[in-house]
Amino acid sequence: MKKLIITLAAVLAFIGGVYWFISHRTTRSDSPADTQKLRVVTTNSILEDLVANVGGDQIELYSIVQRGTDPHEYEPRPSDIQAATEADVLFHNGLNLETGGNGWFKKLVETSHKAFDRDVFAASAGVKAQHLTTNVNEEDPHAWLDLANGIQYVRTITKVLKQKDPKNASTYQHNADTYIAKLQTLHKTAQAKFLDIPEKQRLLVTSEGAFKYFSKAYHVTPAYIWEINTEAQGTPEQMKAVLAKIAASDVRALFVESSVSPKSMNKVAKETGLKVYSKIFTDSLAKKGTTGDTYYSMMKWNLDKIHDGLAQ
Ligand SMILES: [Zn+2]
Repeated sequence: MKKLIITLAAVLAFIGGVYWFISHRTTRSDSPADTQKLRVVTTNSILEDLVANVGGDQIELYSIVQRGTDPHEYEPRPSDIQAATEADVLFHNGLNLETGGNGWFKKLVETSHKAFDRDVFAASAGVKAQHLTTNVNEEDPHAWLDLANGIQYVRTITKVLKQKDPKNASTYQHNADTYIAKLQTLHKTAQAKFLDIPEKQRLLVTSEGAFKYFSKAYHVTPAYIWEINTEAQGTPEQMKAVLAKIAASDVRALFVESSVSPKSMNKVAKETGLKVYSKIFTDSLAKKGTTGDTYYSMMKWNLDKIHDGLAQ
């Protein structure tokens, strides 16, 4: 009898220990302990910078796709999988951006045992989506190229950080308010920026059709060789179509994105006799320490270069 009581007590103590361990673990993963920073992962450098502006020193930040590379198609490295597994929050763009390579991001979410809307959030939530012209069922991901959408991204990011790490909520809100005011000022000057250029000259020729949102916000007409990086790039039909658009306009400059091969745009330059006026940033920020290494400076660079190129 005595033996039985001792065994029973030992079993109960064991169950109690397991229960404490599980509940302790759950609490830790829901909201990090005071000493532990919220661990945040972003899919690309643009989201990385938006999150950094809100999170500041209160978070630990890891970004997946390297600067200067295309986020549509990607093969996660072991370090990406580790960071995603250990993360408290993951932000992706959504809107059909990280869907190349048979959905590389969705696979990463599964591999790292994370779940959408629980620990994985689309920064583009709340943005009014535009669709591809070649496939009207598919969304165009490049919403951030309109600063008003970038501001909406910041609002969504702030909401998620505040929910996941309530003890720093007021810091996140304060950072967001300051940052949004700065973006708002740039957006206001951009809205009338291109109106001093004759309309037939206001054709924005790029490799990928990344400027639908930008064009609508800032009054230029977009032209491109291919519509989205996941499709064939620089086919004879695509070249013919873009050359026809250029011929029907008074455009005097071409542009090439920092995260695509310049081969096709160089061909357009050769065919038309127009110069590639400048590189611009669409799907990636510039390397740290160079112009265009933040969302603000990328947008400022794009607006200034595109204006000066089209106005010449
Ligand atoms: Zn793109």
